[in-house]
Amino acid sequence: MDHNSTIFIPLPSKGKIYPLDSDNKPISEIGLRAMTGQEMNILYSPNLLKTGKAFNMLLQKCSPNCKIEINELVTGDRNALLISLRAISMGEQYEVKLMCPECTFEFESVVDISNLKLKILDVEPLEENKNLFEFAFPKLNKIAHFKLLTGKDTNEIIRIRDTKAKAGSLIEDTITLSIKRMIQTIDGSFENISKIIDSAPISDLTDFRTYSQSIEPDVDMTYEHKCPTCETEFSEILNIGADFFYVDFKKKI
Ligand SMILES: [Zn+2]
Repeated sequence: MDHNSTIFIPLPSKGKIYPLDSDNKPISEIGLRAMTGQEMNILYSPNLLKTGKAFNMLLQKCSPNCKIEINELVTGDRNALLISLRAISMGEQYEVKLMCPECTFEFESVVDISNLKLKILDVEPLEENKNLFEFAFPKLNKIAHFKLLTGKDTNEIIRIRDTKAKAGSLIEDTITLSIKRMIQTIDGSFENISKIIDSAPISDLTDFRTYSQSIEPDVDMTYEHKCPTCETEFSEILNIGADFFYVDFKKKI
């Protein structure tokens, strides 16, 4: 493969929740090129990695003709791009450290990230090319319209959480912050959403989360392993942390 060539990566949302591009086509795939020396500087900037900005910058630089802001993509689409960027730039083999849940033996193994399956969005949004879905709260007996969170939303939630933690708050409210950010209207109204959520029955909020997670397009990060000692088979969830690109990169030079 020519290192400058563009590979088109299909998005698990199929672009159904984004505005059409300038040619009136859905943004169902995004062209990526492999990382080069320019991107190496981003990978070696600890401050960028720590704040999570590094991954966005990498994707922006490696998708020069992308017709949507990387930050406007929902998390699952971004995950699909990150995994593909890793695969086309540094190979499909990703080393992981594991512990057997049965005998607690610790071992290293390799995940072929090209085998991870996409979880495709198979619910139609309320309107075509709009990130908006519906959920009926059973106990509140109210209808919510909600969106799936984008990278921008997630960054904002993390920012609010960190500000509160620095101010000494011990209560972890990321879940309600996310729900409040997702819900756009309740029974058609934009008002009092925060108040309604704060006083909603907890089972309604759990049902809402279960439903929204069930429709969320993503990459299925589970992979199977077998313990070399006791031969127990178990599954793990692949975590895209700050070292997703960094560790192997270091080894290769
Ligand atoms: Zn074992």
